[in-house]
Amino acid sequence: MKYVLVTGGVVSGLGKGVTASSVGVVLKACGLRVTSIKIDPYLNTDAGTMSPFEHGEVFVLDDGGEVDLDLGNYERFLDVRLTKNNNITTGKIYQSVLEKERKGDYLGKTVQVVPHITDAIKNWIESVAVIPVDGKEGPADVCVIELGGTVGDIESMPFIEALRQLSFSVGPDNFCLIHVSLIPVLGVVGEQKTKPTQHSVRELRALGLTPHLLACRSAQPLLENTKEKLSQFCHVPIGNILNIHDVPNIWHVPLLLRNQNAHHSILKQLNLLSIAAPPNLQAWTKRAETYDNLKNSVRIAMVGKYVGLADSYLSVVKALLHACIACSLKPSIDWIAASDLEDESAKLTPKDHAAAWETLRNAECVLVPGGFGDRGVGGMILAAKYARENNIPYLGICLGMQISVIEFARSVLGLKRANSNEFDSETPNPVVIFMPEGSRTHMGSTMRLGSRRTLFQTPDCVTSKLYRNAEYVDERHRHRYEVNPEAIGVLEEAGLKFVGKDETGKRMEILELPSHPFYVGVQFHPEFKSRPGRPSALFLGLILAATKQLEAYLNTHQNGC
Ligand code: GLN
Repeated sequence: MKYVLVTGGVVSGLGKGVTASSVGVVLKACGLRVTSIKIDPYLNTDAGTMSPFEHGEVFVLDDGGEVDLDLGNYERFLDVRLTKNNNITTGKIYQSVLEKERKGDYLGKTVQVVPHITDAIKNWIESVAVIPVDGKEGPADVCVIELGGTVGDIESMPFIEALRQLSFSVGPDNFCLIHVSLIPVLGVVGEQKTKPTQHSVRELRALGLTPHLLACRSAQPLLENTKEKLSQFCHVPIGNILNIHDVPNIWHVPLLLRNQNAHHSILKQLNLLSIAAPPNLQAWTKRAETYDNLKNSVRIAMVGKYVGLADSYLSVVKALLHACIACSLKPSIDWIAASDLEDESAKLTPKDHAAAWETLRNAECVLVPGGFGDRGVGGMILAAKYARENNIPYLGICLGMQISVIEFARSVLGLKRANSNEFDSETPNPVVIFMPEGSRTHMGSTMRLGSRRTLFQTPDCVTSKLYRNAEYVDERHRHRYEVNPEAIGVLEEAGLKFVGKDETGKRMEILELPSHPFYVGVQFHPEFKSRPGRPSALFLGLILAATKQLEAYLNTHQNGC
């Protein structure tokens, strides 16, 4: 196994994840098989308990892993399916070491950070790196490891030490270190400053790791003399100093790396030049350029709870982008804080209320994404009602599907207090209820997580056609509540159809309103499996419906072609 380690220095938020995934893209374009590992030095065992407000979205994997959103970038860029073990956290490592300690596996020895924690890290990396993630058999050729945080953080010290030991044990031909750093520009003269990078490389070297390549982030392209300085003081050949300056969209980053021959430097370091082909990035180039030149846009209202931070819905945003590009459109996403739509807000913050409604009315389609807790639920219900009554295309994801059921029960069935037990445990009409897969009383995690199968109940529905007449689809889940099976009869009679169910027929997975141009709710999260060049069927349906192209599309693709 060959390892490419990506570390970061100077400041956080440099786009280390995008750099690391782009390195993977370029290596893959050279014909190599690539996997990846993300190390998060925090103590949480996984991202499941972390607030989207603070940390961005929780990405969900096929195996139910709740992981850092960077794993989503890897899956999308490399078109792979990762496992929960591809995300290493301090919490997971300590948990495994402490479990072994309790079992007496250390035979009475004092258990210490070095060697026990560092050994656990090395073993974890080496065993996860060989898991195939691209659908083929056998291990990948290269494993890209991204170390979260910045070099010098107290939390990342055991990882740095473990990676130093790993580099030594696998040998120089099998280890390539890329350090991502920032080159700021100061003063009126606009000089590109190399000192922060010099310091962070010095710190890295003091810890026993020497970078083979530098990936320098900057606003403008690096000047030749900046590169010379960096080379001289950081002990890195000038040809290995890469520059990732600002680009119009992130799909340019692999192209930027290729244009600077990054693959050559990496392959040389890893002694892979003889087996690698020249990078083929045709599709990638076409996509990046198409995106830059898109003229027309489509207005999408995103009505959610965590709208302050775009990363909270990162995969939804990416899925919209994939679908829009397939329709040669630029997504124009209007974020609406659901609570601004509520009547209460008309009294307390009338300006916000008016603006939110104006935005909603101007939208060509409405999307209500997933979420937890009752804040903004009233606003989401109003948005679903507006979309349903005015024939505006609507896609409700997870919570968004539950919202549409509550709204329908209240407005159409006249059950004014219909609700989800998540928001009202006393409701006389619980149309959404707690439906754990395991025991209802057993302590521990009760979330339904990861890939589950949905069977289409009829081929005669929009979603089945969008999924190319498939009989079933496997999508990822992350929820506790579901549509109450006892409410299905009345809801269906009134026109809301449940066209996708799980294998037991008890769990509602997809709903549609046949009388509406496009009104779809899904209990799963289709955004997690959307890929550039292979958009999610449902997002595509939403955008096609918003631009009145859905019918024509379904007619031409009727036979699954
Ligand atoms: N809060 C809802 C549930 O737990 C929806 C979850 C979600 O949207 N991811 O079922």
